[in-house]
Amino acid sequence: MSQPLVPPSGKKFQIRDYQPGYTGDLTREVAEAEIVSLRIRLNDLQNRLFADRRYALLVILQAIDTGGKDGTINSVFQEVGPLGCSVVSFGVPTEPERAHDYLWRYHRETPERGKVVIFNRSHYESVLVERVKNLVPKDVWRTRYEQINTFEQYLSGQDTVIMKFFLHISKDEQRQRLQERVDDPKKQWKFRHGDLDDRKLWDDYQSAFEDMVDRCNSDVAPWHVVPANKNWYRNVVVARALVERLEKLDLRYPEPEEGIAGLRVV
Ligand code: AMP
Ligand code: MG
Repeated sequence: MSQPLVPPSGKKFQIRDYQPGYTGDLTREVAEAEIVSLRIRLNDLQNRLFADRRYALLVILQAIDTGGKDGTINSVFQEVGPLGCSVVSFGVPTEPERAHDYLWRYHRETPERGKVVIFNRSHYESVLVERVKNLVPKDVWRTRYEQINTFEQYLSGQDTVIMKFFLHISKDEQRQRLQERVDDPKKQWKFRHGDLDDRKLWDDYQSAFEDMVDRCNSDVAPWHVVPANKNWYRNVVVARALVERLEKLDLRYPEPEEGIAGLRVV
């Protein structure tokens, strides 16, 4: 059965209806060829976005630990140059960050027009880790969905295109990936004992992801639920969505100065 990338509105989003191992009718071979051309198109679109200066692009990646946020960034943006594109990763909030309103540290990192910023984790942590680990009371986190929708609507009205990707992996896939981090000396630095405590909260995280997608899947900033057990499928799905969205913007290079045509440089 085919599975929508953006869950339809008007129907409650239920995470169990979405298969993390789904790969549609794509094969690995075809995907690995396709990603090469998608990366080049994405680079061209980013150049246009930069020259055009009318829109900003905010890419949001959320996933459980080992879900593939870093891998997605490395793959999808491989051809995009650092001029005009950057990544911001959000960890445990610092003391000054905690002293501000919870959206402050995210808002100050949003892109200006012409730029792309990738959020590696985002304001959604306010309804994920903060909810699951009881860092804030229920009365507080339950009001945040609406606030986040309002925040995103505001940004979108200010010419920020928002693309949100929830990388969805299965519990067994996470087990394998955590095991790999333990076993592979090049990956051990990514492993923390606390990851195992978080894994025990798997079901609570899944409920929090479900509510995140259900409550914040808006027209201006829809959630893409990316089947992410297979890296090759995940990368193509994210790259395709970005290319399609940017192509809709009709990005243009600014008009050149008068009298350039036929000018001979000596
Ligand atoms: P990593 O992405 O593996 O570098 O880890 C970042 C850590 O920061 C994760 O364990 C997140 O749960 C944690 N984190 C991110 N945002 C928040 C937040 N708003 N409150 C508490 N912890 C957070
Ligand atoms: Mg980690």
